[in-house]
Amino acid sequence: MRNIPIVISGPSGVGKGTIVKELLKKDPTLVESVSMTTRAPRPGEVSGKTYIYVTKEEFERRIAEGDFLEYDEHFSGLYGTPRSFVEEQLQKTSVILEIDVVGGLNARKLLKDTLLIFIDPPSIEELVERLKKRGTESEQALRERLQRVKYEVHMREQYDYKVLNDDLNRAVDEILAILEKERKKEGDQDD
Ligand code: ADP
Ligand code: 5GP
Repeated sequence: MRNIPIVISGPSGVGKGTIVKELLKKDPTLVESVSMTTRAPRPGEVSGKTYIYVTKEEFERRIAEGDFLEYDEHFSGLYGTPRSFVEEQLQKTSVILEIDVVGGLNARKLLKDTLLIFIDPPSIEELVERLKKRGTESEQALRERLQRVKYEVHMREQYDYKVLNDDLNRAVDEILAILEKERKKEGDQDD
């Protein structure tokens, strides 16, 4: 089996975080990259688990030191993937990066064999419903997230796979099947 970087992207509220949690439960060999961000934690989010929360100054210092594999600014915040964790883990296993479309395409330029998976909502109405039901966003944050949906959906064409998150278990099983197929493909890291 190859060790590959697996990018999971899609509009805010589509279910990326929920899907990744299930993937990690169903395939304990997978590990998730924990991103760094300047956005404030939502209630219930734990630093070091959901994200590593830092100030803008700290984030910029890390950019200058080349600590990020990729980073991007969106929704009035900076988000980035710490490079060393991903590179170390890829020596041992496959790594999931739950990052936006810009980050996904940048990661692919830097990391060999990066697999890009885009999660589609059943409809825009259902996406809005999920975001509102989650209840974690202010009016302003909700507006920012919905404004970016069109851009993300436009970029999805560059992704290797598109998976519809209609039923959670079905979507997770579809991704696991994709991962099994892709990890079995021939590559330099085969063992
Ligand atoms: P994202 O990480 O893409 O922003 P989340 O994983 O936080 O999205 O999911 C947004 C909301 O949608 C959560 O309340 C989650 O429980 C719900 N959700 C996720 N997948 C489904 C699904 N297949 N059907 C219905 N609700 C879902
Ligand atoms: P949220 O604020 O809702 O947690 O995340 C907003 C967006 O930032 C999501 O699309 C999420 O995938 C993306 N994101 C999270 N971490 C990173 C990262 O390290 N790099 C990039 N480019 N995007 C990220």
